[in-house]
Amino acid sequence: MSKKPSPKSENDLMEKIVSLAKRRGFVFPSSEIYGGINSIYDFGPLGVELKNNIKREWWKTMVQLRADVVGLDSGILMHPKIWEASGHVAGFSDPLVDCKSCKKRFRADHLLEGKGMKPDFRPQDFKKAKVRCPECDGELTEVRDFNLMFKTFMGALENEASEIYLRPETAQGIYVNFQNVLNASRQSVPFGIAQIGKAFRNEITPGNFIFRTREFEQMEMQFFVNPKEVDKWFDYWQKERLNWYRSLGLNKENLKSREHQSRELAHYAKKAADVEYAFPFGQSELEGVHNRGDFDLSRHQKYSGKDLTYFNAETKEKFIPYVIETSGGVERSLLAFLVDAYTEVDPRSGDEESKHEKEVILKLDKRLAPIKAAILPLSKKLEKEARQIYLDLQASFMCQFDASGAIGRRYRRQDEIGTPFCLTFDFESLNDKKITVRDRDTMKQERVAIGELKDYLREQLGQ
Ligand code: ATP
Repeated sequence: MSKKPSPKSENDLMEKIVSLAKRRGFVFPSSEIYGGINSIYDFGPLGVELKNNIKREWWKTMVQLRADVVGLDSGILMHPKIWEASGHVAGFSDPLVDCKSCKKRFRADHLLEGKGMKPDFRPQDFKKAKVRCPECDGELTEVRDFNLMFKTFMGALENEASEIYLRPETAQGIYVNFQNVLNASRQSVPFGIAQIGKAFRNEITPGNFIFRTREFEQMEMQFFVNPKEVDKWFDYWQKERLNWYRSLGLNKENLKSREHQSRELAHYAKKAADVEYAFPFGQSELEGVHNRGDFDLSRHQKYSGKDLTYFNAETKEKFIPYVIETSGGVERSLLAFLVDAYTEVDPRSGDEESKHEKEVILKLDKRLAPIKAAILPLSKKLEKEARQIYLDLQASFMCQFDASGAIGRRYRRQDEIGTPFCLTFDFESLNDKKITVRDRDTMKQERVAIGELKDYLREQLGQ
């Protein structure tokens, strides 16, 4: 993660996002009434909608609209041998140092980065750089490797034989099901398997709100290819994934693809490129696209003793497929979508209370917006008729009904949570059976026949 300031870092944007997220029910700190638990977050009523919409869009792009990718939902707990085969028991660790004075713990590679050195870590660089504690300038311990996997026990006995891990990535569940999916789905190479699910990493230095947490969700796809075609597919997926974020409205200027240097590569990777986003705290990884070669399937073949080679009946070729992986985090993309959508404007809603301050609009893509339409009766006297419209629309869209407070205030509330359409039912509506539809971004107001509302919204929302 580079420390280069992003275009949005000129203000306290992160603080504003964290505060909005809590106040309006996107993200809550976990276990708050017990004093909280470090870097675990819960998603509130709007957060869970936004998360589901992100996952739905990913699934649609990666599975539904493709003939060559199928889905999977594998267990979080798996045979412990899987993590030996995958290299995670031996190699899934971060270099760690402790301060001898204040006892704070740091990632050695992050400290080097802070000194302007490359993020590809070597312990000898650390010694040479004579780094001291960034908090108290105390002396640091030698670099130690710290395994990031959470351990637990399965069954009644707590001994070494019953030790298992919470998965640190969803990918391995895909590799160990490669043959099952191949046999069951009538796919042939090249094809992919996609999965969305929780992953757990005992990160040493979590932080930046939901950017790095110890429990998170991944959206991963493993694409199995003929080794001869691996470069072509790597380029293809690198572009596809960058485009996905763009297509959902992330500002092009804030997105870029960065290829890894060879020393940065993870133990399984031959080549890697990150999709990065200019967060207020710096340009950072949103998603990784990796050429994992035949590392995973070969290792599982060796450790399980099962043949995982692929036979192409047409060309008579036999090989262990290479894998291109696309691996993104749900929470990281949610944070990027929030940051990118957050917009402050001069007062425009007509809310008396906000007359002298800026108003906030979350300009989320309509497909991602948690609430698609808010139904607002102009007067308490119109509540009954307006509620009927709400009940009709509810079957097709996530809607809110809000009858309390001045209309300007209600507009402002909906703008702040990114609702694309406010539907205002007024006295005229009783006669002409029309409702005023206000567009969040353009502020354009249109009278739409109540009988045509569903089709109108469907079209506007691209459903
Ligand atoms: P980093 O370098 O930021 O630790 P990584 O390179 O270890 O990430 P991968 O193992 O490639 O990440 O994981 C793929 C994706 O999973 C990341 O791009 C990110 O979106 C998400 N992810 C990984 N670790 C975390 C975490 N601790 N919290 C939230 N999301 C995460």
